[in-house]
This record gives sequence, C-alpha cells and structure tokens, in this order.
Amino acid sequence: MLGRAGRRANGRRALAGLLAATALLATGCAQGTTSPRSDAGSYTEPPLPANAAVARTNTPIPPAAGAGCGDLTASLSPNGTSHGPDLDAVRARGRLIVGLDPGSNLFSFRDPVSGTLEGFDVDIAGEIARDLFGDPQRVEYRILGSADRERALEDHTVDVVVKTMTITCARKQQVAFSAPYFMAHQRILAIKNSGIRSLADLAGKRVCIVTGTTSLDQIRRGQPAASILTVPTWADCLVVLQQRQVDAVSTDNTILAGLSVQDPYYAEMVGADISDEPYGVGIPKGEDDMVRFVNGTLDRIRTDGTWNRLYQRWLQAALGPSSGPPQPDYQG
Ligand code: GLU
Repeated sequence: MLGRAGRRANGRRALAGLLAATALLATGCAQGTTSPRSDAGSYTEPPLPANAAVARTNTPIPPAAGAGCGDLTASLSPNGTSHGPDLDAVRARGRLIVGLDPGSNLFSFRDPVSGTLEGFDVDIAGEIARDLFGDPQRVEYRILGSADRERALEDHTVDVVVKTMTITCARKQQVAFSAPYFMAHQRILAIKNSGIRSLADLAGKRVCIVTGTTSLDQIRRGQPAASILTVPTWADCLVVLQQRQVDAVSTDNTILAGLSVQDPYYAEMVGADISDEPYGVGIPKGEDDMVRFVNGTLDRIRTDGTWNRLYQRWLQAALGPSSGPPQPDYQG
C-alpha cells in the first residue's frame, strides 16, 4: 500500500503525464515539450470524463462474438459487382459517407498539423471511394462513437462504418458486414510495473472500457470480479489511466497500441490475446450490392500490395510485422 505522500507523488506524476500528453496532442510534436508544473497549489481529484459510469453488473452478459451464427466472417462474393441501387445512389450523390471516430490514433485520427483525418481505417474508406469514383478523397466523414455504429447504419445516416468494428453474430442481426479486413485481438494495457500481467490479475482491479463494444462483454465474461468504468471513447480511457482513476484499459491490441504510442513510458500492453476481433466494414442490412462492391475493393487491396503498404505505414511500428490480411470466405 502507498502512504499519502506516495499517493500524492503518484497523483502529481499522473497529472504531469496528462498535461504532457495534452500538450503533445495540441502541438503534435514530442520534441522540447515540457509540461507546466507547479508545486505551490493543491488540487482536488480530477473529474471523470463526461458520461463515465461504473458498469452495472446485474445486466445479462451477451454471448461470445462468434456464438450462434455459423461461419462468423462469411460474406458475399464480389462477382464483379459495380452497379446496384445502393451503389448508384452513392455515385449520384458524388461522395461516400463514412462513419468513424476521429480519436482513434493509428486508425482514424486528426493529424494535428494538417487537420485532416488519417489512419488505417481512413485509408480503407479511401480505397472504397477510389473504386467508386476514381478518387480516394470523395469521402464525407460522420463522427461516431463505438456505441453508435449499428444505429447509424440502421438509420442510413452513413453509407458504411469503417471503425475498428468487430464482426459479431449479434451485430449481424442488425447490420451486414464485408469480409474481414483486419484481425485484431483483445489485450490489456496496464500502468508499467503495476503487477497486472493477465486477465486473472484484473480481479478486484478497476478497468476502463468503452460502452457498446465487444471489449466490455469480453471482460465481463472473462473476469467478472473486475470493476469496470465505462466511458464514451478510448481516448477517455487513456486519460483516466493517466489520472490513476483505473488500473488498466482493455480492448483490441490495435487501439491499445495507438494509446500506448501517445504515452509510451507510462503504460504497457500485457498478457496473452483474450479474443479474436475480425474487423469488417459495416454496411446497412440488405445492401448486397454495397457488400459485394466493398469485398471487391478488399480483394484488390489484398492482391495489389495496398493492404501491406497500409499496414507498414500505420501499424508495423506499433504492432510488429504482419502475417498478412485475413482471407475472405465467400458464401453466396
Ligand atoms: N473491436 C471492438 C468493437 O467493435 C472495439 C472497437 C471500438 O470500440 O472501436 O466493439
């Protein structure tokens, strides 16, 4: 146990880390960044992010992602599809409306210098637009939280969702998916030297997870003795970890890698893979022409070297060499 002085030192370090990370995000530049520091005043416990809540434990835990729908990642064959009612409507509009999250470092984030959205998911969306319009820039973004993805597709406020979205049987009841374009795995991000090394170590610990995610269901299933703080975005989880309001964050290795790049000296990814998280492009249910077309784009980028190039550009440094893109399983 830490004494009061130790806790205060920890708190100061956490606050300094938060200030440093905020300064880093604001300037987009790691060099020469120093955090303002004052030892003169006192401060109270920092507030939790807006809409943070302690997860209720009395709600039913959904079944595992792949349970109950046969071949989870099966999708429709491209069959050379380039026209259909949904594709033609998007072409007539002149741009593809893509739902994603602007705060997911490495996958979809705002470059602090250029102000444009960048990342692996942004580029996947751009490749779909390239095949639709001959121009990867013909994309309009709609900002979505993790919990908003299915609804946005059901309400047709977006044409596609490209946001680290795991294909699950439960989601397939509401929306359609492309073939998988990435295979992620859930892991744990813990404060360095915290002693947390595995899912078992999360018993009695505080874990930050975003609402509406497979990550939340997975921890509730795998470690019911963890105390879970839910927040709207993964960036919120980094803040509460830096403020020591939680002991760990758990989600896909891809997202955790993006968080640890933002504060590499503070947190580390630990433990074995907890799950497989095959990412698909989310598409409104019934839009078979769009599903086939997107699968055609994914076929192209797997074979023409684009997928490997995108992996190298965005993910190799954080995740290490890739074993290549997941292969499609076309049925129908
Ligand atoms: N892959 C997980 C999911 O689809 C987490 C990703 C996210 O929150 O963006 O629920």
